[in-house]
Amino acid sequence: MLRALQLEPEKCTGCLQCEMACSFENEGVFNPAKSRIKVFGFHDQGRFAPYTCTQCDEAWCMHACPVEAIVVNQDTGAKEVLDAVCVGCKVCTIACPFGTVNYTHDTGKVIKCDLCGGDPWCAKACPTGAITYVDIDNTGLDRMRAWAQQSSAGSASFNVPTEKDVQTYSQAQ
Ligand code: SF4
Ligand code: SF4
Repeated sequence: MLRALQLEPEKCTGCLQCEMACSFENEGVFNPAKSRIKVFGFHDQGRFAPYTCTQCDEAWCMHACPVEAIVVNQDTGAKEVLDAVCVGCKVCTIACPFGTVNYTHDTGKVIKCDLCGGDPWCAKACPTGAITYVDIDNTGLDRMRAWAQQSSAGSASFNVPTEKDVQTYSQAQ
């Protein structure tokens, strides 16, 4: 069973523990600027929203890469960057519609979330449960169905969402 990050902004306090854990695990430093998960702050409203790569089924970054430096981890489903192959052309950063692939000047390569090999540190570090690592079937599908049925008031045109829809919805909540 594949798992995915479930992000629940309503539980986020903006403490940035997730960014600290990510940067330390992946870059060896406590530096939010080097984190692969980011927390948006809506300071005028006192709200925060964590976001990171959705590991899209049809990953645009992966398809756009001219040297096939982004590959699927068959165990986790994560799209991973092969540092030895990446030439730092930044095409993937443009292709990603969510801005979750980032160029690093230090290395001349890109970095993105790889789910920490199946044990994501952001989820372990979050003290409020705003980030959890759950079976992909549970990443908001029930909530999405309820929401869609409510908004369509039982319309016959309602379509059951795809896995990709669910991931995008989970990110947007
Ligand atoms: S920056 Fe690296 S991973 Fe991204 S498209 Fe270029 S070669 Fe591929
Ligand atoms: S660790 Fe959790 S509560 Fe803190 S900023 Fe990250 S998502 Fe929000």
